[in-house]
Amino acid sequence: MPKLLLTLLCITFLISSCKEGKNEIPTTENDLIEKPEFAIVIHGGAGTILKENMTPEREAAYKAKLEEAIMVGHNILKNGGTSMEAVTKTINVMEDSPLFNAGKGAVFTNAETNELDASVMDGKTLNAGAVAGVTNIKNPIDLARAVMDNSEHVMLSGKGAESFAEEQGLELVDPSYFFTEGRFNSLQRIKDREKTELDHDAKAAYYDTELKDYKFGTVGCAALDKNGNLAAGTSTGGMTNKRWGRIGDAPIIGAGTYANNETCAVSSTGWGEYFIRAMVAHDISALMEYKGLSLQEAARIVIQEKVANLGGDGGIVAVDKDGNITMEFNTAGMYRASIKSNEDPADWYL
Ligand code: ASP
Repeated sequence: MPKLLLTLLCITFLISSCKEGKNEIPTTENDLIEKPEFAIVIHGGAGTILKENMTPEREAAYKAKLEEAIMVGHNILKNGGTSMEAVTKTINVMEDSPLFNAGKGAVFTNAETNELDASVMDGKTLNAGAVAGVTNIKNPIDLARAVMDNSEHVMLSGKGAESFAEEQGLELVDPSYFFTEGRFNSLQRIKDREKTELDHDAKAAYYDTELKDYKFGTVGCAALDKNGNLAAGTSTGGMTNKRWGRIGDAPIIGAGTYANNETCAVSSTGWGEYFIRAMVAHDISALMEYKGLSLQEAARIVIQEKVANLGGDGGIVAVDKDGNITMEFNTAGMYRASIKSNEDPADWYL
């Protein structure tokens, strides 16, 4: 619709609704744009990509996989499926791709193993499920969902989580399934470098510059379905060179993932230690709930001020109960995509 016409409509509607009562007065142009019936947003990790490392072929591969993933979720939502189904199935596509640091392609621990973390949350019930440090589950996001649906717990870790996965009949793989050469080489470079630099600033500079693409890759999704239910999920291999059973923000409800039908659904990616300390995903929801902020403003404060002031970096994708989408990051980039029901799916890529 031409902008002038929309503005005129805005004014006409404002004048007429003023007569009808306070609650119906639209305050912005956005209020007059039809709310989407459903919406979905995904990320494939935040960080720095150097131009020389991003060949046209590589970029095309990421773009194709992001498109494939988001279209899976979009179609589920379009056909009336739940936001939880859309979130998990969308994440499965990225977990199965070696391009991302989740499932196949996960980063390596200091002990040269892969330990995967994942979580999901249902905004309608506030139920949640999470797993940490699993080594043989093909799709950790499915295990997180099984924990939510079929156990009385919220978070399972390590061997116990793996036994539960077996009982649930989830697909198990040999740990070697997760190996990729790029991630392995990345670990070796960090180990070499670590011998000389261990303080915070040196590590931060190193993560910013030398890890390049390797810092990218955690995956996440947030969605709103036709019934107005929100859901979010996050899946990751964590951070390269992690040790001592380190667990990041991704499986921590409130840090890496949060969903509440009253506010929003959020999935985080970034330097997990900071995202845990800032309780990023829940903080965004809380700013909306208690302070009445918009999703966009709440996300900006948490990512650009709270996390950044602590010294952390990363980003989030989120959708609110009205289908507004936000993709906020304080890194140089974040793989991301979104589609609303009232948008052309061809415009999904940012
Ligand atoms: N947040 C993840 C972690 O700290 C890593 C990432 O998102 O890149 O485990």
